[in-house]
Amino acid sequence: MNPIEQFERLNAPAPIPTQISRPFWEGNAAGRLVMQKCGDCGAWVFYPRGHCPHCWGARLAWSDARGNARLESFCIVHRPGHDAWKAAAPYVLAIVRLEEGPSMLSTLVCPAHEVPDIGTPVQVRFVRIGQFTLPMFEPARQRRS
Ligand SMILES: [Zn+2]
Repeated sequence: MNPIEQFERLNAPAPIPTQISRPFWEGNAAGRLVMQKCGDCGAWVFYPRGHCPHCWGARLAWSDARGNARLESFCIVHRPGHDAWKAAAPYVLAIVRLEEGPSMLSTLVCPAHEVPDIGTPVQVRFVRIGQFTLPMFEPARQRRS
């Protein structure tokens, strides 16, 4: 079974979108990685919030991110924090740095014994788990400059 199938078969409880985070979850379901962008300073903002963490501006609007990132850190999860994720263990929990700037805690879709080097380009891969979709990342297929 490939790593994606292991996640797709999970019966995990869904995240509970808030008024602020709902566009992020709806974007994932539509296969789009959307993030807030500040209308005052221009910075990309993730996770979703009510104010820009860079300039405290409140003019945040949703935009499509490209879904390109680099692996910044990872750990191998052998004992998930929720039993519903046990069937996918061991899996790779990763921090990726999006090319737009923000970092994102996510899952790296690759066998736990084949984690690429820190700094490796990765790209978003949307994985549906029951009623919700998560933006996971996988090693980029093509080299980018
Ligand atoms: Zn700002």
